[in-house]
Amino acid sequence: MSAARPFHDADRAGRHGPRGPVTRRLDVAVVGAGAAGIGMALALRKVPGLRFGVLEAGRVGESFRRWPAQTRFITPSFHSNPFGLADLNAVNEPSSPAIYTGAEHPSGAQYADYLAFLAQEHDLPVVCDCKVESVAALPGGGFILSTAQGRLEAGFLIWATGEYQFPDLSPFPGARDCLHYAQVADWQAVPGRGHVVIGGYESGVDAAVNLARLGRAVRLLARKSTWDPRGPYDPSLSLSPYSRQRLYEAVDSRRLEIVFGVDVMAVTRASAGGYRVHAGDGRFWDTAQPPVLGTGFIGGGGARQIADLWEWDDAGRVVLTEADESTRTPGLFLAGPQVRHDQRIYCFIYKFRQRFGLIAQGIAQCLGRDASALAAGAGAWGPFGNSECCEGCAC
Ligand SMILES: Cc1cc2nc3c(=O)[nH]c(=O)nc-3n(C[C@H](O)[C@H](O)[C@H](O)COP(=O)(O)OP(=O)(O)OC[C@H]3O[C@@H](n4cnc5c(N)ncnc54)[C@H](O)[C@@H]3O)c2cc1C
Repeated sequence: MSAARPFHDADRAGRHGPRGPVTRRLDVAVVGAGAAGIGMALALRKVPGLRFGVLEAGRVGESFRRWPAQTRFITPSFHSNPFGLADLNAVNEPSSPAIYTGAEHPSGAQYADYLAFLAQEHDLPVVCDCKVESVAALPGGGFILSTAQGRLEAGFLIWATGEYQFPDLSPFPGARDCLHYAQVADWQAVPGRGHVVIGGYESGVDAAVNLARLGRAVRLLARKSTWDPRGPYDPSLSLSPYSRQRLYEAVDSRRLEIVFGVDVMAVTRASAGGYRVHAGDGRFWDTAQPPVLGTGFIGGGGARQIADLWEWDDAGRVVLTEADESTRTPGLFLAGPQVRHDQRIYCFIYKFRQRFGLIAQGIAQCLGRDASALAAGAGAWGPFGNSECCEGCAC
């Protein structure tokens, strides 16, 4: 999709394009038009008179469009909306990817189409092909954004750049010779009949399952089982039921072998061709094809692009206030899967969408705008809302 339309209620006099020096003043700029950016924009749209815009480096839902063709949502979509329970993958309360896509486990392309549909349907002010190259925080508050389409000033900034486009390509020596999950457009196009996959969580298992389904022999190297029934319940820590089910099917097919207790230390190239994967305990595995990395993304994901504007903890995570604002730069908010508060990990859409209203409400109040349309309604995000549930409790 191209830009849905220029900035909402923006300064029309300053709009020229596409690459000329453009200076506009917005109340709020949202960077990124993925699930977090589109969901945030839908929440901001409820604030009357707010001048906001969404800047997207590529297309709406760009990261989803880059998923491997075989990848499907692991969280199921289901139209439970009329009974007060939003679709798990929806970015606003009334919509339902299950209805829009007709799929319980949508593909990346289907989900990107759903986001683009919402942007169009709600007339969201999204500007595509507009990468934000740098951000300067102004001493008196507000931000100057340098973008591929000119400069922009914003009173508040919501950073929603995700993590998928920021893979960790060097988790250990030799990893740059490997093939990262996020570099694969279609497993069918990956050559070879046998593969070593490193990483035993969602992306490693997804790679292994899809390669096995294509008839390839796969060896999955995992530190530990993330599907132990005695493990934690939180899908941010344990493999989802959808992936467990697919994993058991792949094991049953005899095309998938799982090796546990493997801490990969390096990958080296053999002079005769091929690759050797070295574990910390001295074991090694040889493979003709580049090993596949299901080892994750850089800590902080897209927030690293403006690293100086955040405080970082010892684990390399962004430190946020209770309102998801940067503790270093007032007026800067983080939306999306890197949001964490103590033990609460917001890395799924059904989790991080619960923060959209909170951020929009905070900004509206700061600007003295009417935020009543954002007040929590009948609990469309589910009866537990934002509570501390649900690890080890009776429900
Ligand atoms: C294989 C896989 C399966 C998953 N399955 C599920 C699932 O089933 N359910 C679920 O809830 N979650 C799932 N996730 C996680 C989910 O995809 C992410 O949490 C979600 O995409 C995050 O949304 P986002 O909007 O924060 O990031 P993204 O969707 O990555 O969007 C960020 C956007 O920001 C843009 N951008 C980046 N930098 C800039 C810049 N400087 N200027 C302008 N634009 C920029 C990007 O182009 C992109 O469009 C899965 C993830 C993976 C990798």
